[in-house]
Amino acid sequence: MSSSAVVIVGAGHAGVQAAASLREEGFQKQIILVSDEKELPYQRPPLSKAFLKCEMGIHGLPLRAEAFFRDNAIDLKLGVRAERIERAARRLETNEGAIRYGHLILATGSRHRRLDVPGVGLPGVHTLRTIADAAAIRERLKPGLRLVVIGAGFIGLEIAATAKALGADVTVVEIARLMGRAVSPILSDFYLKAHSAEGIAFRLGVGVSAIKGAGKAEAVELTSGEVLPADLVVVGIGALAEDGLAREAGLECANGVVVDAFMRTSDPTISAIGDCADFPNAALGVRMRLESVQNAVDQGRCVAARLAGKPAPYDALAWFWSDQGDLKMQIAGLSHGVDQWIIRGDPAAGNFSAFGFREGKLAVVESVNRTGDHAAAKRIIGAAKPLTPADAANLAFDLRALAKR
Ligand code: FAD
Repeated sequence: MSSSAVVIVGAGHAGVQAAASLREEGFQKQIILVSDEKELPYQRPPLSKAFLKCEMGIHGLPLRAEAFFRDNAIDLKLGVRAERIERAARRLETNEGAIRYGHLILATGSRHRRLDVPGVGLPGVHTLRTIADAAAIRERLKPGLRLVVIGAGFIGLEIAATAKALGADVTVVEIARLMGRAVSPILSDFYLKAHSAEGIAFRLGVGVSAIKGAGKAEAVELTSGEVLPADLVVVGIGALAEDGLAREAGLECANGVVVDAFMRTSDPTISAIGDCADFPNAALGVRMRLESVQNAVDQGRCVAARLAGKPAPYDALAWFWSDQGDLKMQIAGLSHGVDQWIIRGDPAAGNFSAFGFREGKLAVVESVNRTGDHAAAKRIIGAAKPLTPADAANLAFDLRALAKR
């Protein structure tokens, strides 16, 4: 018997949004949301921020209250792992039996890039993706603890800043520059200085050759030969698309599950959204995969609109944030192909934005403690309003007025 149900694999930011938006769009048929995690679907960003600092408890994490799923007739199946897609039969095999689908949405997120060195499996070596990961790190963070963070990406630096504020002795190891895949060299340099001033030590331009210890992690050995003593090691060296289900089912995959501008995979009865999706950016003429809440939520909305009969290509403006100590970073837009950077504000005072222009057009704004610039930038870039580099640098120029115009 065929099914008209929409089945969503993964109840993270993308999967939950897709289910919610389907109902908002008036979708009447069955919705089944399958999650291999046991907790009510939750927000990930606080795990390396407020939750880690103990400013937020576990009760602040859920994306939606339990009643939301019940009231919206979203059949949330927790602790159920999707294991195989039988495309011809439109059937999803799970550890708890088969589920038939009319349309399948893959919202499986991403997984850690594994650090391939001896000792990485020792107790005391952590990664951060789930509530359990965050709780395990949080429990260990104490004054005097020697923490080595491997990888100076957003998550690694957020953990480092929190641990330092709690009195730990923190060293960050990074082979390239800080947050090098995501931000301009201006922000990399600024954050290096700011974190160093707080007492975080950095080892840049070196890799890790081993994690040493008898029965637990006790030191991190660098490719330079230096050995850093450690009570706790956190590895944050990036993520890969969780696209195993799609690959095994023969769907086209590259840097994640390949989708078109409508989030359709190479099988029209299957879509992919969020961290796991490799999608085309029409404006830039490139394919990309983004790991951000904005991207997950907006792609969830995009697929829901299409399934509800209102198809529109995905072209939402990318934006992102990271909280590191007292520094609030916000990014609007993407820095691909930027050929000119302009600074507005005062980096020395920890209050500035870097405006990136591509062929004279504003493409991205990276703000530090300047939420007004970020809000204006979203509107200016989103609506392609004209801004010259000279006006961007001029503090007397009213960005808000331009954004509203
Ligand atoms: P996820 O939220 O990862 O959800 C995917 C879900 O699918 C998971 O629950 C997974 O267990 C489940 N799943 C996978 N395979 C299966 C299967 N076979 N069967 C059943 N279930 C399955 N982004 C920002 O924009 N700002 C931030 O400040 C920020 N901070 C972050 C901090 C941390 C610690 C982390 C880990 C991420 C952060 N991100 C941040 C990134 C953001 O959380 C992700 O981009 C977002 O969660 C992606 O949503 P998603 O739904 O695609 O994937």
